[in-house]
Order: sequence, then C-alpha cells, then structure tokens
Amino acid sequence: MAVVTQTVTCEVCDTKTLVKFQVGTLKEYPIHYSCPTCLTNIYGEIINHNDEWLEYNLNNATNKSGFDGDYILVLSGEFPSIKITKFTEETFLASAFSPFIRYAPHGKIEMYEILQGMLPSFINKEWKIIERIANLYFNKRDEYIEKEINKLRESPNITISPYEKDSSVSKLITTVFRTLSAIKPISEYSAESLSTTLKEISNQSPSEFLEFLNYYTEDDLLHIQKQLFSLFNSFINHYRYLLPVIYFEALNKDIEKIKHIEGLNTVSLEKLDRLYQNTYETLLENSNLIMMFDNLVVRGSVNNFNSSINVGRGQIRTINDFKKLTKGQKLKYLSDSSNKLSVIFQKSLDTKLRNPIGHNNYTYDPNTQLIKFNSIYENQSPYELYLIEFAYKCFESIKINLLIWDLIFLIKELKKN
Ligand SMILES: [Zn+2]
Repeated sequence: MAVVTQTVTCEVCDTKTLVKFQVGTLKEYPIHYSCPTCLTNIYGEIINHNDEWLEYNLNNATNKSGFDGDYILVLSGEFPSIKITKFTEETFLASAFSPFIRYAPHGKIEMYEILQGMLPSFINKEWKIIERIANLYFNKRDEYIEKEINKLRESPNITISPYEKDSSVSKLITTVFRTLSAIKPISEYSAESLSTTLKEISNQSPSEFLEFLNYYTEDDLLHIQKQLFSLFNSFINHYRYLLPVIYFEALNKDIEKIKHIEGLNTVSLEKLDRLYQNTYETLLENSNLIMMFDNLVVRGSVNNFNSSINVGRGQIRTINDFKKLTKGQKLKYLSDSSNKLSVIFQKSLDTKLRNPIGHNNYTYDPNTQLIKFNSIYENQSPYELYLIEFAYKCFESIKINLLIWDLIFLIKELKKN
C-alpha cells in the first residue's frame, strides 16, 4: 500500500511536520495531533477518493507535498503508529517501515474482513437500519420491525436468519459485536455459559432463582436495554478512532510492548474521555443486575452480599441498599475477587481514572500521549496511562456492555417460560 508524504505547517508557529500517511483500505482517515512547538491541535481528515487523489481537510495547518519537516508523524487508520518525533536521519529511517508493513497480516485473516466490514459504509447504512429497528422495539412499534429486518437481509455485509421479533434486536447486536469481543473475551462467561449456569440454579434453588428472575419487570429490562443500546451506538460512532486497538487485539499483539513508541494519531483525548465517562456511568448504573447474578451464583441469593466488604455505610443487606451506593462504593463490591461475573468491571472501569476525569484532574502530554490521572490523596503519585491504553479501556467497556446485554436477553427469555 502506498505511503504518501506531506509537509504540514502549523498556522500558528510555522512548525513543519512531515506527515507520512499510510493509504489503507479506509475511505476516510481521521487525523489528530498537537503541534509539538505551540501545542495547537491540528486535526481533520484525509479522504481517499477511489485511490485517485487524496483530499486533506486539516484545521489549523496547511499542507503541501514534500519530504521536509522539523518533526515526523506517521499516520495509519488501521494500526497503531509511531508518535510524533523529531525529524532526524535516524527517525526518518525508522519511519520507513510503515505500520502496514509491520502489522498487516500475511495471508487472509477473517477478523480483518470483519473489521473492514464495520467501516463507514456499514455504519452509515446497515447500522442506521439496526438503530431504527432498535427504536421501534424500544417504543413498542413491533409491526414495522419485520419490514426493516428484510431490508437488512438484502445487505451483503450482515448475515441474519429469521428470528422472532423480541430476539431479533438482541441478535442483531450480537451479530455485530460478538466477533469483536471474541478474540480476548472479557469474562470466563459467554452467553451460553450464563444460560447453563442459570438453568442449573433454577433446578437447585428454584425459589432463589425466581427471586432473581422476577426482580425486574419486562419494562425495567427494556429500559436498561435502551441505555445499553445507546452505548453501542456511541461505540459505533467512535469505531474508526478505536480501530487500531481493536485490530491490534485481533492480531493478538500486546499494546504493552509498543505503547512507549507507538500510539494513536487519529483521535484526541477529549473525544475518548467523553466516550469513557458516558460508558462508565451507564455501565455502573446498570451493574445491579450483575451484582444480583453474582450474589445468587456465589452466595446463594440475590440479596447475599459479601459481608467482609466495608464501604463505610454499615452492612449492605439488600439489592435496594446496593442501589443507593455511590458509584465508587458499588465498584468496591463489583471488584470483589470472590465474584464470578462482576470482576469484569474492574478491568476497564476504574475510579483511579473516573474521578480525575470527572473533576478534570489530569494532565495530558499530546507529544508522548501520556495521561497522568492525579490521585485525591496528596502523597500518591498519579496513575499513568497512554492514550492507546485508554482507548483500549473504552473498547473493553463495550465487551462489558455486551455481556450485560446477553444477561438481560437471557432473563427475558427465561421469563417467558
Ligand atoms: Zn504550532
């Protein structure tokens, strides 16, 4: 694949950056970096017009073809790429191996096709139909659903078989997201094993099982699904920014090994920060169900909390007590390692991140892409994460979302029987 170079000049301080752009299989490539001298954000997109010409839509900078610059930036839409660095003979040589050369799979990888399948054309077309179907479902306008599903059946990008109406929305979601989260599952539980576990419990402890099953009404569950769907939606809207971390995982590569040198040159921290906050709030708000599941599976009843956990409010005795806890306090129960399912929250939802984000108590160096989340305790050093790791946490939180979604679907099915 071709690499195109442009000299991009900051409109504020005239610093020149050689942008080496890897033309890949996308149509539009987001770009975001900060001028290393004056820290002005330079962002926009590069549009590939059928491999004939490239259109650079940049804010705060001008561009012209060339090979010179004070800095080098490598840009790829599909892969992590080298962060902005001073232009020297050495760095120029190092940047010669494009992300594509380093990371593109030899031979066919099914995942690659799936990831490509979810690019803008899918999002603008098929996903819009899925969104319509979901809204019809949430608003109980089921009479229109089948017709919309038939429109999806015509699409070559998605394979759906005939399902009854209630499950079709759930199935659509899992069709789209299942493969993405399958490479590194976030939990030992899958939709299938959740089902097996609940069936076992229904045989062993029928009354405790019914207590779990009947805690939420159909409408409660629909309401939660609606909130979870809005997270899938915002994930889809951020998909192109997160693609390098998703693809990296699909290649079975480890971010840990590259994070000091490589990162994301496609997205600002602000954009991911909003996604993360939104996800965090919604998932924790809907964590009750997961907590109930673990209380039931691990301790025998939905209201049996681990009594060794202390959140300074006295004993938590019921799910209703749990609902009144702050998000941080909930997280303490959810992160309990004796639990089976709720530990997933610990992975991407972290008060070390959430509190500083909520209070704007962090610093970000756009050149190294290092975020330092300050602690509320003065003697504690900040919690550090690179932008690419933060992006990965956003991706992981979608896997949590999918698992809660699966659990709700399962409860709805079990309620019917
Ligand atoms: Zn500048």
